[in-house]
Amino acid sequence: MYAIAVHGGAGAVPRATLAPERERTYRAGLEAALDGGYAVLERGGTSLDAVATAVRLLEDHPSFNAGHGAALTRDGAAELDAAIMDGRQMRAGAVASVRHVKNPIELARRVMEKSRHVLLVGAGAEEFALEEHFTLVPNSYFRTAERLEQLESEQRGERGSDLVPPAPQGTVGAVARDARGDLAAATSTGGMTNKRPGRVGDSPIIGAGTYAKNGVCAVSATGHGEYFIRAVAAHHVCAAVEYRGLTLEAAVHELLHDILRTLGGDGGLIAIDHHGRIVMDFSTEGMFRGARDAAGRREIAIY
Ligand code: ASP
Repeated sequence: MYAIAVHGGAGAVPRATLAPERERTYRAGLEAALDGGYAVLERGGTSLDAVATAVRLLEDHPSFNAGHGAALTRDGAAELDAAIMDGRQMRAGAVASVRHVKNPIELARRVMEKSRHVLLVGAGAEEFALEEHFTLVPNSYFRTAERLEQLESEQRGERGSDLVPPAPQGTVGAVARDARGDLAAATSTGGMTNKRPGRVGDSPIIGAGTYAKNGVCAVSATGHGEYFIRAVAAHHVCAAVEYRGLTLEAAVHELLHDILRTLGGDGGLIAIDHHGRIVMDFSTEGMFRGARDAAGRREIAIY
């Protein structure tokens, strides 16, 4: 069965403060990404193409913390991280701290397909982008009025300092299984508001925020990245399924509500197993998410 799930970040806007109009905007963004990715699967495309398509659509949407509308560093710039993984041969590509690449997920994919490396960062990643004929955009392309406001309020309230990390708020991702049974995962983010320049989260770290292995599962995470890195979160879920025989639900639950909670980190993730079963779970108040499969399931949810 082919299936896809998408997320637009955990630690969603508190329910009490989410105005109906804003909720509609988020839902429409999630729906477009979900259906865009699903359409790829429906016409026999690969899970890799499906997750790349879904994530690109979310990067272009200003409400989500990735691409246009990304969270800003303490200096007011956008620094973007992204990763993609192909479950077939466990090939992966990632970029971190890029400032001028309109769709970081496409560059991550290019790193996987056209370079000898897995992760390229900063200026080197952008040099590679130029060689690969990507069009670079000014950093101001990513900055929205809402993100600037968020940064200013974090800075006024002292949250997001080195010692008091900001709450997670965004990130986008997708996981999919195609009709051939191949799995893929993709994640893209602006990271955390008011982060130090140069800070890299879990999203582009293979095994932390993004992971896919055929026959086992594919995972895309969101939340407080430092904790997801320390727990090697996405890999933990797949390893628990593969080596301990846990169901995907149980593996995800253990990670979020046991391991990460003990460490003091929160967030959520979407995962899909080799049957195309989807799990979407979180320890925050909400997580923007959607799932669709060939058996007729189609849902969008926030809380
Ligand atoms: N996990 C992302 C990071 O730490 C942030 C998020 O998901 O909101 O960079």
